[in-house]
Amino acid sequence: LERDALFRKRHNIHVSGSNIPSPLQNFTELKSRYNCKSYLLRNLRDLGFKEPTPIQRQAIPVLLSGRECFACAPTGSGKTFAFVCPILMKLKHASKDGVRAVILCPTRELAAQTARECKKLAKGKKFYIKLMTKQLAKSADFSKLPCDILISTPFRIQFAVRKRKLDLSKVEVLVLDESDKLFELGLVEQVDAVVKACSNPSILRSLFSATLPDTVEELARTIMHDAVRVIIGRKNS
Ligand code: ADP
Ligand code: MG
Repeated sequence: LERDALFRKRHNIHVSGSNIPSPLQNFTELKSRYNCKSYLLRNLRDLGFKEPTPIQRQAIPVLLSGRECFACAPTGSGKTFAFVCPILMKLKHASKDGVRAVILCPTRELAAQTARECKKLAKGKKFYIKLMTKQLAKSADFSKLPCDILISTPFRIQFAVRKRKLDLSKVEVLVLDESDKLFELGLVEQVDAVVKACSNPSILRSLFSATLPDTVEELARTIMHDAVRVIIGRKNS
């Protein structure tokens, strides 16, 4: 649509792929187009999020329409909400049937920060959101521990999977955050093991980063299904 093209241009949103859903004009469209629950809109208001950022405008509709996504946008441009919002909306409510979403982060600090952000966004809704600590990785039996959304470094999650204390076969959404770093720090094998352990054939995967080097994109293409590429500004700025 011409209108979408103009709107994307105005917000410096570059897309490639077929049949890409329209970008969000505002957060109210989360409700009118995607039937977003009121707790989430209330949390946005309480956090002072008035307008979606460019990456949120485009990545959220892509993921909500069930398309996989490579998203590249500068640091500080709101990528966390761009992937947490579709997770919360897709999972709908808490369950005790195992882990349904995994967010992989390259460092423990980033994982902890993402878990805090995720809890703020889910406030008022009783999701089980767990940060994979050293203790949990070593001794938790996830078959007995309710967990809807698990946030972890690849090392810790792989450790728990190997010990057969964590089953990822029901994971519906997998996010690789700061994927340039996940693919660079010698973490590739661990990331790969986690991707394989998430064996649900209808899994929705996405990749977020501030830069998207060709090598990362090539690696990523090997694990994605018909992914849409969303870039804000320039690819490697
Ligand atoms: P990135 O992952 O792209 O570096 P973050 O997701 O950490 O960015 O977001 C940076 C900051 O912007 C955070 O403090 C976050 O709460 C805030 N933020 C995110 N989205 C919005 C929005 N739509 N409006 C206002 N602030 C926002
Ligand atoms: Mg981030």
